[in-house]
Amino acid sequence: MQEIKIPCPVCGSDEAVLFEKNLNIPYYSDFFMTSIICKKCGLRSTDFRNLHSSDHTRWTYKVTSLDDFETKVVRASTGIVEIPEIGVKVEPQMMPETWIKNIEGLLLHFQEKIAIFLQEDDDHIVKEAKKRISIIGDLLQGKGEFTIIVEDPNGNSLIIPYDDSKLHKEILSKNK
Ligand SMILES: [Zn+2]
Repeated sequence: MQEIKIPCPVCGSDEAVLFEKNLNIPYYSDFFMTSIICKKCGLRSTDFRNLHSSDHTRWTYKVTSLDDFETKVVRASTGIVEIPEIGVKVEPQMMPETWIKNIEGLLLHFQEKIAIFLQEDDDHIVKEAKKRISIIGDLLQGKGEFTIIVEDPNGNSLIIPYDDSKLHKEILSKNK
């Protein structure tokens, strides 16, 4: 693990520290987790960086059995994660969440996000949210197949597959 003092990107103080750690992921040896911690303003942010490639990449993995639940998704700040069968998608935003989750964690994450819509006044939205929560409940028990799509314009998000023969990679554009 490497530690570097940097100016804080939020408050500008010189009390921020950047940590860089190689995650030693199989097949992606140059994949790093970067954290910035500032003692002055309390900033804590984590992101991921692929030193091997910065191409705009789309990864696709079809989950067909509970074994596939060992597959993991790394979501960097620029990553888009989608499960088309349930019509859910995480996209970059102002303060993006970055994480590494296995398939169960990913499904629970989407379920939590959708549950927010249960508070809406619109009956149609509530009905639609309930339907999706129930579909995710079935998927969590291994009932049904679904596709994980991870796209990142900077190549910093990944799928770490349970079965690498099932992982499909597309380079959408080259970045130099
Ligand atoms: Zn700060």
